[in-house]
Amino acid sequence: MKLYKIKKSKIDKNGLYANQNIKKGTKIIEYKGKIISVKQSETNPKFDNGKAIYLFNINKKYDLDGDFKFNTARLINHSCEPNCEVFGSGLKIWVYAMKNIKKGEELSYDYGFNYDDDYKAYPCKCGTKNCAGYIVRQGSRWRIKKKRK
Ligand SMILES: [Zn+2]
Repeated sequence: MKLYKIKKSKIDKNGLYANQNIKKGTKIIEYKGKIISVKQSETNPKFDNGKAIYLFNINKKYDLDGDFKFNTARLINHSCEPNCEVFGSGLKIWVYAMKNIKKGEELSYDYGFNYDDDYKAYPCKCGTKNCAGYIVRQGSRWRIKKKRK
């Protein structure tokens, strides 16, 4: 049985939901895509805004472009309190459970956007208690909170 299913998300569009209880550390789904060289991703205007949601760095030489329909993992939404994290293992990228996840919970991870001038173009609708209001990676969220005061 698959660990996840696609469902209309409370956060945004479709999302992935846990189809059963998932233990912390479990590999949930492979983040599939095409491997491209870092040079390619640096010169391709497609990735120009610095917020390429579907682009992951694998190593010094290669990135993975996951902006394809066959990449089901791209449906996973951003959350300010995520239950998953994404990292590489060799040339593959996997979505792991970073905590125990209950059946029916929506899967999410931190998109890791940098804080910059256009952060307001990416509002966050995760609805968690500590939501920063915008999709900005955890280490930079304090900047937003500071501004709001
Ligand atoms: Zn949020």
